[in-house]
Amino acid sequence: MGAVCHTVNPRLSEEDIAFILNDAADAVLFADPGFAPLVAALAPRVPALRAVVLLGEGAPPPLPPGIALHDYETLLAAEAGEQAWPVFGENTASALCYTSGTTGRPKGVLYSYRSAMLHAYAANTADAFAFRATDRVLVGAGMFHATGWAMPYCAPMAGAALVLPGRHLDGASLVRLLNAERVTFASAVPTIWLDVLQALERSGARLETLRRVASGGSAVPRAMIEGLGRHGVAVQQAWGMTETSPTVTINAPLAAHAELDAEAAMRVRLKQGRVLCGADIRITDAEGAELPWDGIAFGDLEARGHWVCQAYLNRGEEGAADADGWFRTGDVASIDAEGYAEMVDRSKDVIKSGGEWISSIQLENIAVSHPDVLEAAVIAAHHPRWQERPLLLVVPKPGRALAPDSVAALYEDGRVARWWRPDAVLLVEALPHTATGKLNKRALRQDYQDYLLRQPPG
Ligand code: ADP
Repeated sequence: MGAVCHTVNPRLSEEDIAFILNDAADAVLFADPGFAPLVAALAPRVPALRAVVLLGEGAPPPLPPGIALHDYETLLAAEAGEQAWPVFGENTASALCYTSGTTGRPKGVLYSYRSAMLHAYAANTADAFAFRATDRVLVGAGMFHATGWAMPYCAPMAGAALVLPGRHLDGASLVRLLNAERVTFASAVPTIWLDVLQALERSGARLETLRRVASGGSAVPRAMIEGLGRHGVAVQQAWGMTETSPTVTINAPLAAHAELDAEAAMRVRLKQGRVLCGADIRITDAEGAELPWDGIAFGDLEARGHWVCQAYLNRGEEGAADADGWFRTGDVASIDAEGYAEMVDRSKDVIKSGGEWISSIQLENIAVSHPDVLEAAVIAAHHPRWQERPLLLVVPKPGRALAPDSVAALYEDGRVARWWRPDAVLLVEALPHTATGKLNKRALRQDYQDYLLRQPPG
């Protein structure tokens, strides 16, 4: 119809949601009646709002005068069944998502019909999601998270079915839904898959129809690829961000990889993958000079392409792409000679120890390879001599007695340099997550960044 569909994450703080609705100047708000109290609190704070449409039965929220209240089904019933599709330019705005604020205030990314379409074509190619009409696709990423990772475009384009879990994203509910709805393909952040694996372990259930999983948003740990592999499910890692629609790289094998032994093949699979046709990536140093694709040099990852954003909504030049369209992603990565990008870290999360960089992602992947570790986070803790040192926080699997020393011992097998070893391993009951299911490192840093300073020198 030519309107912009702006999907909002209801789990953000009321403050953030009010900011987002006003920044976007949203005019109509669609909400589940379960959110009536939130809608009632927000409505008086959003001057552009003209109407609220409730998607189901329930007590309506009290609204200030001037804001109409509608019932979705009643509105639909009053209309003719046929839609006369309007014709407009391909650069017309179609959808709006905000970055989830993992690294600051939410910023709006406005997609066009053109960018969404080109991204969906590329993401549906054979080495990417490759949906077929026989697929049943579970969308485990919220619609507010880069348009549900564009699955709502990619799946219908191929005639595949969409399965929407709503807010029931715990492991046990997902296992039930995956089997009941005969899901063949599912996408979600790694945290959710680790939870699914736990639920499978606890219940002894099987994944009856699921064959492929796409995951990203944070690095896919080896334990997840192996765990789902035991259930006959292939994991395909993808890299992207709200600003890139989201998919830019996807991990699929090359012919030459058939010769690799299992260990070498796994090392390739843990990378974020090769760039889709229609986008470009490069890595640059502090002066902006391009770095070689040798799998060793790492630097700022930049992306450009038909579905990479040029600028944020209402933010002027802040974070805008350069004159050649290169967008600074805020990630630090290497790219190997075969073109596989490998994330070292988010530039804000990388640990700068004595001027050298340590990758929190690599250290976390090693920690979760421990059979008794459920989840792990590595953050930069202040250090009197080295400025920053890695501090490892681990959550034990339920019912397991986890000895911190046994986790620390994992770093002694030569997988990482001696000076990368975490300075301390702390057991915690749970780790905080952002609204998109990523480790909330900002919160962790607030709580733990002075931990090493508080320890007696030794
Ligand atoms: P937010 O920035 O609010 O967390 P996004 O989902 O847009 O929301 O986050 C994109 C970021 O997620 C990337 O810049 C990168 O740091 C991280 N990311 C995405 N995919 C991967 C992946 N496969 N491995 C590691 N990190 C990833």
